Amino acid sequence: MLQGTPILVLKEGTERERGKGATANNIAAARAVADVVRTTLGPRGMDKMLVDGMGDITITNDGVTILKDIDVEHPAAKMLVEVAKTQDQQCGDGTTTAVVLAGELLKRSETLIEQNVHPTVITRGFQMAVQEARRLLESDIGTTVKATDESVLTDCAVTAMGSKGVGGSREELAKIVVKAVRKIAEVRGDKTVADVDQIKIEKRHGGTISDTELIEGIVLDKERGHPRMPSEVKDAKIALLNSALEIKKTEIESKINIKNPSQIQSFLDEEDKTFRRMVDAIKASGANVVVCQKGIDDVVLHYLAKEGIYAVKQVKESDLQKLARATGGKIVTGIKELSASDLGKAANVDERKVGEDDMTFVTGCSNPRSVSILIRGGTEHVTQEVERSLQDALKVVASVIEDGVVCPGGGATEMELAVKLRRWAGTVGGREQLAVEAYAQSLEAIPWALAENGGYDSINVLIELRSSHDGPHANKNVGVNLVDGKATDMWKLHVIEPLRVKRQALNSAAEVANMVLRIDDIIASKKSAPAPPGGGGGHDH
Ligand code: ADP
Ligand code: MG
Repeated sequence: MLQGTPILVLKEGTERERGKGATANNIAAARAVADVVRTTLGPRGMDKMLVDGMGDITITNDGVTILKDIDVEHPAAKMLVEVAKTQDQQCGDGTTTAVVLAGELLKRSETLIEQNVHPTVITRGFQMAVQEARRLLESDIGTTVKATDESVLTDCAVTAMGSKGVGGSREELAKIVVKAVRKIAEVRGDKTVADVDQIKIEKRHGGTISDTELIEGIVLDKERGHPRMPSEVKDAKIALLNSALEIKKTEIESKINIKNPSQIQSFLDEEDKTFRRMVDAIKASGANVVVCQKGIDDVVLHYLAKEGIYAVKQVKESDLQKLARATGGKIVTGIKELSASDLGKAANVDERKVGEDDMTFVTGCSNPRSVSILIRGGTEHVTQEVERSLQDALKVVASVIEDGVVCPGGGATEMELAVKLRRWAGTVGGREQLAVEAYAQSLEAIPWALAENGGYDSINVLIELRSSHDGPHANKNVGVNLVDGKATDMWKLHVIEPLRVKRQALNSAAEVANMVLRIDDIIASKKSAPAPPGGGGGHDH
């Protein structure tokens, strides 16, 4: 009797899309995201101007910055944005590459699906292709380099910054980056570890990019707290405090229950004594510099100045931590507990004028592995883009120091993989072979986009590249020379990248493509309940 009556599992009216329709819809959304960033790929890529609701603008060429800032609604598009973020966290570079590759994989999948290749077969083929690509990367394409080879490290830094709007200062910045990372790199067991979070970046607009400098020490974005404090302290002993040198307002209010005027005076005296005690405690520890994460009362600043102690207040927590590591000091909460053994040491603490502002420089730290980079540039937009490109380059150099393996850029690596994978596809057999071929084809999207963004005829460039990689005089290092559009050995052009960036880009692109392909049903889930009044949080739909 029930025959013919559909069984309703989902409530009527639930938004739902299934089967090929769902897949096609997801692919279209993901491809749209890839299209946004494709034109930024490579040194000749264009920039994007992002305008937020307040009218503030960001001008960037950085894939992940673009994707983080634009509002994407579609769930599949969001997955692609996640790829960029992962790539950025893991490698700092290669975000655009990963996204373009994922978009291309999905585009080719669409054709295969139209030819009735099942998405499961495609994902299996992609997985096989990635595995083989990774094997080829390690065994055929990567070149081992020494962690001390400054010229290779500099080349990698220059390549990483290649596409960012840092113009002619690339070489200078690259040298700063290499120096900084080599400073913080340390050998742990049989591994070299370079944690770039130890490098402090400060930026100030004014001046030009080439005024950017490496400081062997820590730069604090703060001036000394009182004009009568010394502007320079040699042989600094630094107290690091994370509590305020003030009297809490509530304490005062509770005490201010005063009946006659003489009590006011004694109250003020009491307050003054408290301040005096703070300064005495600091003096007793032997400190001649105070770095405080919280506020310092004007009276305390005045007393500190009288004692010839240099003090800065409202320092960021992360800066205080970096300073502790750099100077070997201990962060102290209660001023009473401060003792000589808690103090950090540095040869010099001084205030310098940088652009319009005064900043505090802590140099000659007891830990020689502490460095800062002070970025300069004409405007805030410039310093921001310089910071983004330095972040990329720092991570790139760190990964070369850690792994010691690099590969050619300019699409050479992708082209070599495409040629080899196409050959290998024949040994796979079955319908998966079609997916492996599609994967190989997709890799060519990278040199294609590089050439296209450079204003060259992508078809011609690709033909030239293919024959350079496949002919009797095959050379795995040939990529696009963006100066003349010719196929050129990338080692000769010093366009080199860490293997880690490529490996991660291949992985994450295939991962997200497979994830999108595996979805065959989109069901609008129940909206989460509205947040309780005043509770905040909740999901924004
Ligand atoms: P991603 O976010 O993927 O790093 P980029 O816009 O930084 O994207 O572009 C990286 C690509 O540009 C890489 O394939 C890299 O090899 C290539 N590239 C960088 N510099 C050059 C150059 N001078 N000549 C040719 N290709 C280059
Ligand atoms: Mg890059």
